[in-house]
Amino acid sequence: MRPADLHIVGSGPAGLSAAHTAINAGARVCLIDNDHAPGGQIWRGGPDKWTDSRALEIWKTLHAHPHFTRLSNAQVIGSVDCNSLLLEVKDEPVRVDFERLLICSGARELFLPFPGWTLPGVTGAGGLQALIKGGMPVQDRSIVIAGSGPLLLATALTAMEAGARVEAIVEHQGLPQLSSFGLELLLRHREKFRQAVSLFSRLRKIPYLTGGRIVEARGLDAVQSVVVRTGRRQQEFACDFLAAGFGLVPNIDLACSLRCDTANDAVVVDALQKTNRPHIWAAGECTGIGGVDKAIIEGRIAALDALAMLPSAQDRAMLRQSHDFAALLARSFKPDASLREMCLPGTIVCRCEDVAASSLAPHRSWREAKLATRVGMGPCQGKTCGAACQFLFGWAPPASRIPIVPASAAALSQIE
Ligand SMILES: Cc1cc2nc3c(=O)[nH]c(=O)nc-3n(C[C@H](O)[C@H](O)[C@H](O)COP(=O)(O)OP(=O)(O)OC[C@H]3O[C@@H](n4cnc5c(N)ncnc54)[C@H](O)[C@@H]3O)c2cc1C
Repeated sequence: MRPADLHIVGSGPAGLSAAHTAINAGARVCLIDNDHAPGGQIWRGGPDKWTDSRALEIWKTLHAHPHFTRLSNAQVIGSVDCNSLLLEVKDEPVRVDFERLLICSGARELFLPFPGWTLPGVTGAGGLQALIKGGMPVQDRSIVIAGSGPLLLATALTAMEAGARVEAIVEHQGLPQLSSFGLELLLRHREKFRQAVSLFSRLRKIPYLTGGRIVEARGLDAVQSVVVRTGRRQQEFACDFLAAGFGLVPNIDLACSLRCDTANDAVVVDALQKTNRPHIWAAGECTGIGGVDKAIIEGRIAALDALAMLPSAQDRAMLRQSHDFAALLARSFKPDASLREMCLPGTIVCRCEDVAASSLAPHRSWREAKLATRVGMGPCQGKTCGAACQFLFGWAPPASRIPIVPASAAALSQIE
């Protein structure tokens, strides 16, 4: 392993932007990611598939630079101590010591349970998009996309461009809320407004239902239809896939394993992206959901600070703007309490261990429920059902533990 001045976990927009900034400043960078290709979520698939000029520009600098090392297919499973990470690479444990660490671990989807959500063919909205970008054929297959937030539209476009028939997009927020979001975009985020208008115009033939929610996904061995309700009206759409997404949850497990402070389910950082731990910075979705522009500018500012350089006035202005947009997203698409009604007593909440809502409801906390049922004890270790229980029952989410993902015994034996 070549020595590095800055180790970065996550090669999404935040990690790539940080690596680019650091390399341009003359530093040696090691970029670690569990995927085979760089890009994270939005730039998934690697440089051959990228269309965003910012990603291509970054990669032009990085890909053959002698000071740039990329560890791909490398899963960070936790920390060994406060200056070293434990990775699993091809089932082998690898210890990586760092002087300065930047965590850019992104976010995952928030899944909320409803009857039939465990049927094959039901995925997250981003999950379906990732499958399509990964090559899953959807030509002439019918798809319904439901939930809340801009990711529904991005997924619809990906599906449509791959030849799928998108039967409907069902947005939970009502028209007044969406109109006020649009107005704020127009007034304060002109470029985002332009992107939204362009997206809507490309999706104009797809029915867009507002103020709607899923009642049930139906099917025998796989999803065949979905019932949705808008106001008093109930409609059933036949579909081969249902993509249901209700927003994103920051990936904070690695930061927690390094004992970084968190608040509101995100890593706490200062104005220069520094965490409370010496030599550890965080950037992108793990510090709060805000999209690609926030990830890029936070990654840049974190790298500058890690190398004892100051951000410019323009950098600071971009950071403020991206945080303003993040706050607008949070206000406009916060999952509304009425979505709890989707989950009936018999609905499975913990899909790894088949625990239904009725078994969880009598308990007062995640810990109590975990002692009495098998909730959160399957392979996802509560990453999916923990956030769902937080939303459904108001429980504090489960604390992260090492390993942050299931790991081999060989890797676990390295933890002191
Ligand atoms: C499924 C999904 C789809 C999305 N699609 C869109 C979209 O179409 N348009 C849009 O604007 N936004 C989309 N987003 C939002 C997206 O997260 C941001 O726009 C942007 O990608 C955030 O960049 P980031 O660098 O913070 O995180 P990410 O892009 O999520 O990158 C994080 C990277 O860290 C890696 N990683 C995390 N933990 C570890 C670990 N322990 N060990 C090793 N590697 C690790 C991940 O594999 C990933 O490559 C999507 C989000 C999700 C979850």
